[in-house]
Amino acid sequence: MPDTTTDLRTRLLRLIHPLMLVMILFAFTLTIAPLSFPSPNRHAYLLLLLVLLLLLILAMIARHRNHYLLSASFTLGLGLVGTWSSVLINLNAGTPDFFPLCYVTITIIISSLFLPALFTILLSATQIILLAVLVATNETLLQQNWPSFFFFVILVAFLSMIANYLIKVQMLQLKESAIRDHLTGLFNRRYFDETLSNKLKREQKGGEVWGIILLDIDYFKHFNDQYGHDAGDFVLTRLAQEMLSYFNLSATICRYGGDEFAILLPYLQQQELGTLCDNLVERVHALDLPYAGKSLGSMSISVGYVRYTEQLSSAELFLKQADSYLYHAKQTGRNQAVGAS
Ligand code: GH3
Ligand code: MG
Repeated sequence: MPDTTTDLRTRLLRLIHPLMLVMILFAFTLTIAPLSFPSPNRHAYLLLLLVLLLLLILAMIARHRNHYLLSASFTLGLGLVGTWSSVLINLNAGTPDFFPLCYVTITIIISSLFLPALFTILLSATQIILLAVLVATNETLLQQNWPSFFFFVILVAFLSMIANYLIKVQMLQLKESAIRDHLTGLFNRRYFDETLSNKLKREQKGGEVWGIILLDIDYFKHFNDQYGHDAGDFVLTRLAQEMLSYFNLSATICRYGGDEFAILLPYLQQQELGTLCDNLVERVHALDLPYAGKSLGSMSISVGYVRYTEQLSSAELFLKQADSYLYHAKQTGRNQAVGAS
């Protein structure tokens, strides 16, 4: 399953990259400017330029390899080192007092949007310490209302962290709803297909036993026709609950569509799959189905199961095999499990 959170962040980062480049340009200009006139700190600036170039190269390499978050970290680090070193080495140059605030605000907002919370906390703390050094050593700033600078920076950091938290929660919800079936709360077909493909890609040298199950409710239309669509929904939900309590947490249980379900069982004992399926068929058949004050009778399921073997090299083949066993179970009487374990 692709990580939607990272996808969205990557897209946002691409959009915001021009702004980050402006910050780099700004840091470079600040560093290069003092080199144009005789300065006692010439060597310090040259060294600083080398460090900036190195950070820039690392940021570019990371971006080239599509590690956007790493690239953003290097870029912010580059802005931080370049800007603050220039300002602190060249204290007497008369830095405009609003400049550190704008710079600090932008970097904190960018980092809180894209990078882990710990990074933003460290960045904010570093910015506040550097701002304190700047204020303490600069006569002009000392005469101004400097406590408001700190109040402003802390407020920005606080608000950015809250915004970051809210964005993350929303992205997680989006991600969840993209992989869940709304009625049963189980995973959906897309998630199953991707999980199965990923599992097959990682397979298989160690002789691990795993397999899949396809199951379909028998004569499900009967529930809809006789008791109504809502009763049918109840039956689907009841079966989903039963499977969630029956299989262990490592199972990926999905609603494959309509009244059909698919389950991927990653860790099995030899020959366990068949027994698991037989027991499930019995358990489901024994379920009570009380609905709106009356009983809906009982339901039964037909099951097709397949254990992984090297011949089943693609998800398509795997599912086709399970589907043909399921078909066989339907054709030969329903309420049973057929397959290879
Ligand atoms: P069989 O034993 O051959 O599987 O018979 P069946 O009646 O179960 O036939 P089939 O599996 O083809 O029927 C699926 C039915 O499931 C058709 C459709 O009306 C119903 N269905 C699909 N999605 C939903 C849903 O979300 N809610 C309800 N209540 N019914 C649904
Ligand atoms: Mg059915």
